[in-house]
Amino acid sequence: MNINSSILEVKGIGEKTAKLYQKLNINTVKDLIMNIPRDYLSYDEPTRIADIKEGVRVAIYAKVSSRVTSVKRGRYNISSFNVTDSSGYLQLTFFNSPYIKNVYKIGDSYIFVGTVKNKFGKKVLEMPEHYTEQQYRIMTKSMQPVYNLTSGLSNKSFQKTVRDVICFAGQITDILPEELRVKYSLMTMSEALMNVHFPRNIEILKDSLRRIAFNEFLVFLLEVNRLRAENVADKSSYKITEEAKVRLESFLVSLPYSLTGAQKKAIDDILNDMSSEYVMNRLVQGDVGSGKTVVAAAALYATVLSGYQGALMVPTEVLAVQHYEDFQKMFTKLGVKVGLLTGSLSIKEKRAVYEKLKNGDIDIIIGTQALIQEKPEYKNLGLVCTDEQHRFGVKQREKLSLKGDHPHTLIMSATPIPRTLAIIIYADLDISVIDELPGGRKKIMNCVVGTSYREVAYNFIRKEVEKRHQAYIICPMVESSEGCDAENVIDYSDDLKNIFRNTIKVEYLHGKMSENEKNDILHRFMTGEIDVLVSTTVIEVGINNPNATVMMVENAERFGLAQLHQLRGRVGRGDAQSYCIFINTKESEDSVNRLKILENSNDGFYIANEDLKQRGPGDFFGIRQSGDVNFRVADIYNHSDMLKKAQDAVINYSDILNERLNAIRNKDATFTTL
Ligand code: ADP
Ligand code: MG
Repeated sequence: MNINSSILEVKGIGEKTAKLYQKLNINTVKDLIMNIPRDYLSYDEPTRIADIKEGVRVAIYAKVSSRVTSVKRGRYNISSFNVTDSSGYLQLTFFNSPYIKNVYKIGDSYIFVGTVKNKFGKKVLEMPEHYTEQQYRIMTKSMQPVYNLTSGLSNKSFQKTVRDVICFAGQITDILPEELRVKYSLMTMSEALMNVHFPRNIEILKDSLRRIAFNEFLVFLLEVNRLRAENVADKSSYKITEEAKVRLESFLVSLPYSLTGAQKKAIDDILNDMSSEYVMNRLVQGDVGSGKTVVAAAALYATVLSGYQGALMVPTEVLAVQHYEDFQKMFTKLGVKVGLLTGSLSIKEKRAVYEKLKNGDIDIIIGTQALIQEKPEYKNLGLVCTDEQHRFGVKQREKLSLKGDHPHTLIMSATPIPRTLAIIIYADLDISVIDELPGGRKKIMNCVVGTSYREVAYNFIRKEVEKRHQAYIICPMVESSEGCDAENVIDYSDDLKNIFRNTIKVEYLHGKMSENEKNDILHRFMTGEIDVLVSTTVIEVGINNPNATVMMVENAERFGLAQLHQLRGRVGRGDAQSYCIFINTKESEDSVNRLKILENSNDGFYIANEDLKQRGPGDFFGIRQSGDVNFRVADIYNHSDMLKKAQDAVINYSDILNERLNAIRNKDATFTTL
């Protein structure tokens, strides 16, 4: 067996288990090693039952003191029993696990590990793990990796498999040659990968993640550099005409509001670029709600008025539909033909759209990745805008700009990256910053509170709904999952429906639903049919419902500040006063202080800078940033020192690094970028 062997060669993995791993995109030993744990658990000394606190993960050493009883509630079969130690007793609860009555016998002692929940005023442990005293001794003080799993595959067996193959990490070739590794004082990739799976302590884990982050940055920056080299001095075939500029001006004046100074400046930058000899490659960076859409619309309209087509690409279908409707309202009366292209159109509908793009019957096409994946031909595509581009990687940036004959590219980003880092990450682009919010908005009111505040929050939401307003509630998870006690949208919305007893319409939304389901829910939320939307962060990107006035975020400590700021940006979009409630379930003072930054400011750039200052090498558990590009480990805030080192390497050693990157491209499978 070696690093490239199929996982079928690993002892204990047969066809059936291999299929489960394949679901997680794991086919080879290398894939297993490259699969970074989602989180880590540490196993501390047991706590006395009398001392446990709600929301904290604890171990208790206790004796089973009652028989297991089971009841049926909705979709769940709930089994429970009591355990006792010298300080008191506690109820343990299990869902859909009827077999436990054969596992736990009165008088047996175990160490139970789980998070303390408050159910109807009573403390309970839900779905705890159990260990014998001897098993537990071995685990104390070490950190156990938690992997992304799929049904049928347990974390325990996943861990064992990784443990069996981790020695092959030694066969991995790093993109960074030895002398540079020494120069930048970094450990080898083999070491980093071994440590990331089985860290001896948190310091080693942090160093190892930094090492991996370095690689991700390095490869990213090499790509960005290549893009820049290719883009420089690309002659433009799509110059904006003077007449177009004049007509655009009267369109802008006819808007129901006047543009902010920063919006005007961004539009000027864009028009200057697009009327020059060269192709535009510009990023517009602006906080949530700063009004980037109208800037994109202006650029697209100027393009159309000059006789070319424009495309607007967005990361989700829901957002595509929203923009499509807005653009139709804005432009149809001006004779501009707007089209929509998304993955869920039927083949026939898609063909019709392609046909129109080809013969110029669509002026502005709005769509998702379908715009690049499904190769439509354009009559004369002059401008490609991507909205909320932090969901797209460099590759996609590139592919879309290759469509047509080198069209202009305009990228809109809401990620408030500090300027120093933005210059590195967007080395291939010119940057305009919209650093001004439209006037007349009421400031969002914020609070950071614990779970005991929930009841107050629900009453508050009820009052807002009575005023015909709407609310979002964000949970980190889609469904309940082993080893993770964060709230999930499915159980949460069930509970909420019970609490509101159908007087308030609650629905949920998450990324695993089909596009049609998502669109349907979003549509019903937009039209006011749904009052409270329980959602994962899928709604973080760009959704605009000015009637929503409450944003409540569960397990707020699990999100990055910049991401929380994005979520908050979903409210405060209309005239009414809006509110944001961050529920913090972690007791630590750091966690509270971090969230207080959000309570004290609504300014995304300030928040990003504070985040950078506070976190330093940071507390990364659960707050892996959605980030600006799709890094697996790297986080531009947390690992900004690695980003700077990687930039230095790319500037000074690009030849050797590019050579090695090519080896990776040519599928030398012992090489890894990650
Ligand atoms: P984002 O920058 O987050 O994409 P949007 O473009 O969605 O923001 O704009 C948010 C809201 O603000 C929209 O309802 C839009 O119509 C409105 N808006 C944009 N510019 C202005 C302005 N200059 N004055 C008042 N409202 C504006
Ligand atoms: Mg937007």
